[in-house]
Amino acid sequence: NYLKIIDEKNNEINAFIYINKEDALNKAKEIDEKIDNGKKVGSLAGLVFGIKANINVEDKIISAASKTLDNYIGSYDATVIKKIKEADGIIIGITNMDEFAAGSSTETSMYGTTNNPAALGRIPGGSSGGSAAAVSANMCDISIGSDTGGSIRNPASHCGVIGFKPTYGAVSRQGLLDLAMSLDQIGPMSNDITGIALALDTIISYDPSECTTLKWDSPNFTEIATNQKGNKPLEGMKIAKCKQFSDITDAEINKIIDESIGKLEELGAKIIEINFNYIDLCLPTYYLINYVEFFSATRKYDGRKYGHRIEEVCGDEVLRRIKMGSYISQKEFSGKYYKKALQSRSLIRNNINEILEDVDLIVGPTVPKLPHKIGEKLTPMEMYAYDTLTVIANLAGIPAGSIKAGEVEGIPVGLQLQAKPLDDGKIIKVMAALE
Ligand code: GLN
Repeated sequence: NYLKIIDEKNNEINAFIYINKEDALNKAKEIDEKIDNGKKVGSLAGLVFGIKANINVEDKIISAASKTLDNYIGSYDATVIKKIKEADGIIIGITNMDEFAAGSSTETSMYGTTNNPAALGRIPGGSSGGSAAAVSANMCDISIGSDTGGSIRNPASHCGVIGFKPTYGAVSRQGLLDLAMSLDQIGPMSNDITGIALALDTIISYDPSECTTLKWDSPNFTEIATNQKGNKPLEGMKIAKCKQFSDITDAEINKIIDESIGKLEELGAKIIEINFNYIDLCLPTYYLINYVEFFSATRKYDGRKYGHRIEEVCGDEVLRRIKMGSYISQKEFSGKYYKKALQSRSLIRNNINEILEDVDLIVGPTVPKLPHKIGEKLTPMEMYAYDTLTVIANLAGIPAGSIKAGEVEGIPVGLQLQAKPLDDGKIIKVMAALE
């Protein structure tokens, strides 16, 4: 069924850059046979996955949508892919993205842009735009994206689906092509919260081969997701809204978000107002760190092992980050840019953690603006402004998710929920209650 939908829609949407038809059908047959023979099947049996093109899947083209890697074939399965395969998930294809995940619109892909299925003619957001569009257009059950500064939540918001970035270190990054390794985290996208929860239960785990993963006795997310019925499921929860978030957000989006917050109150939550002091520092801090870490991550693309020297074939945004990263990293600037960024990252993290000592969640808009029309030219600063509200969670290492709150003239708007490190379950709980 999904292959048929992909066949019908992918030309227009361009969510998938590679369709894994034979493998997917073989895997489906294997699961059917297991069932016919009375054998046990995995927790994801029959669920169909799309995988972002920056996560290694053995034998597939994992180009990160860049000419730099146009002939790189995944030589192994990333840890998350191993886990999905072991749980009998079916991988139906590889999804489109911004080049090296450095963007918020999926327009910088070497495969061309992805169309937003929920608002045709507009960008799907990014950088995991293909993954969001794939679930939004019903081409698969669950897709996997990566989120460095919002790349799961931003396209989830624009395409009207659910996207979840777990606590930093909850999911192994082994096999993910780095954008900025102190910020990157892999996570799921789906049309329903059960899909998100099933994926989390599979991919969250300590990985001895990845030193930033956490040893964590994580909750059963599927149970949480299916257990939020009744009249006031959020009774006893304290949820914060933040004036500084709404101040930088378009009025029509704020209106939808306020309605969602009203709904949370009806479901039993207590809403309080908080102040976040560093909204102006978020983008400069994030981009300085991103430039420096990305520059370092790209030094291996020097043409010897992977075919092309990155600077010779990459697009403008990737080149900008490499140049800026190289400039900022110079010895003469030691302390001037990067160290300052690290200091302000601590300020942001401490302020957010302080707020989260008193409340269970912080809610607000995921993206402060609606997605632009494909072809409209934005300046780099206008493009970066999409990320203002999503980078906070990456800088602080906290879990965050986006769920559809409503629409402005038919264009989806997402509500963002953020919690303390390891309180991922609280976000799932509230999303399940809202759904
Ligand atoms: N838009 C942000 C950036 O360009 C976030 C990207 C991401 O999360 N991968 O860096």
